[in-house]
Amino acid sequence: MKQAQKLLNEQFDEMVATLQKTVGFNTEKGEPLPNAPFGTNVRQCLDYVLELARSFGLQTYDCDGYAGHADLAGTGKDVLGILGHLDVVPAKSEEWQYPPFGGEIHDGKLYGRGTMDDKGPMIACLFAVKALKESGFVPQKTVRLIFGCDEESGMQCVEHYFCKMPYPTVSFSPDGDFPVINREKGIYQFDVVCGKLPHGVKIFAGERANVVPSACRAESPVLLNTEGVSRTENNGVYVYTSTGKSAHGSTPDEGINATHVLLKALAEAYPENETLGFVANKVCDTSGKAWGIDLCDSQSGRLTCNLGVLRTAENGTLTATVDIRFPVTYSCKYMHDLLRANTPQQFELNEAHVSEPLHVPCDSPLVTTLMDVYNSMMGTQLDPLAIGGGTYSRCLPNCVAFGPLFPNEEQTIHMPNEAISLNNLRTMASLYLEAIYRLAK
Ligand SMILES: [Zn+2]
Repeated sequence: MKQAQKLLNEQFDEMVATLQKTVGFNTEKGEPLPNAPFGTNVRQCLDYVLELARSFGLQTYDCDGYAGHADLAGTGKDVLGILGHLDVVPAKSEEWQYPPFGGEIHDGKLYGRGTMDDKGPMIACLFAVKALKESGFVPQKTVRLIFGCDEESGMQCVEHYFCKMPYPTVSFSPDGDFPVINREKGIYQFDVVCGKLPHGVKIFAGERANVVPSACRAESPVLLNTEGVSRTENNGVYVYTSTGKSAHGSTPDEGINATHVLLKALAEAYPENETLGFVANKVCDTSGKAWGIDLCDSQSGRLTCNLGVLRTAENGTLTATVDIRFPVTYSCKYMHDLLRANTPQQFELNEAHVSEPLHVPCDSPLVTTLMDVYNSMMGTQLDPLAIGGGTYSRCLPNCVAFGPLFPNEEQTIHMPNEAISLNNLRTMASLYLEAIYRLAK
């Protein structure tokens, strides 16, 4: 073990150079081509990484360009999976201080799209496996690094890969937060097709279910009782524009939903309209309590409810798109039935994106081992995390997120100037080495 850590340390510069090369491929999703379902750049990046893994003596598998893996063979039948991805979200270079695919190092940080999400941690894991192998370590479980190529835009990668390959026995995904995320709430996104708004009333807001809308526009033939909302008049119709504060839909209370003030004012002006009454009084409550769906458990806390999108059809029908994050001890079916029972029967509920919760118990060997690795190496006494968001680890059973973001570290994932601190890269590689050793030995 000590020997492996020493080798890893000695190969740090090589690891950094490899990461720079990997960042150099702009692996934003591209036009599909034969054997390159996500475009040429993603294909080339996967080829580069698998070729490198082969040069380290690992056995590789290319799953039709959707994903690939590199194995350090074990003596037994079990497999330890490490699930990460090589694709990235787009980067607008004019918003960046340094070129997003340049891999430049400034002030101890390596800049580039994918340095944290998720190329950096995957290259760290690859070098951890390399060092373990060179130190003579022969694991009992096969250590399998799985490189997905479509995590950011549809997850076709894992869908395709796990059609052809079995699930590993146990896995972690270096695509979340340290120390360990072992509980992720269920996701239930759906449209409520309500009834009609009063004649002449229209309301529009938001683009995506999982974002708190920061602006909302409403038209009304009658004057509304609103404070702090801008108003103009156009041919006898009042046009209101409210502003709020955007936030992720899994944490609606961190934002200010711009729809709430206008829906409440409209409901007050039209007390007899069932649609406005329902949306304003029930859907606007971020705890779900007013709707009668306020689930809670000790493992993951309270349900959250985000009203993400409002659309008014030509005929006056209002559709609300809602993103609910429900606690880990409930299911999508339970959520569906609860919503149906608490929503007027004439309103349609149309499921959009739903995903069961992830829950690997805190006392499972996977979680206790990873927590022990983290706390003992970092000198901390942290507990595993529960979140409302979704990480890659949901794609397979018995998987948790382990890094790469450290507690209190500045978050640059999906933002301009994404960067990885070289000190943190060194630390995470060491943590990954220890974790792989302990889980696979
Ligand atoms: Zn990611």
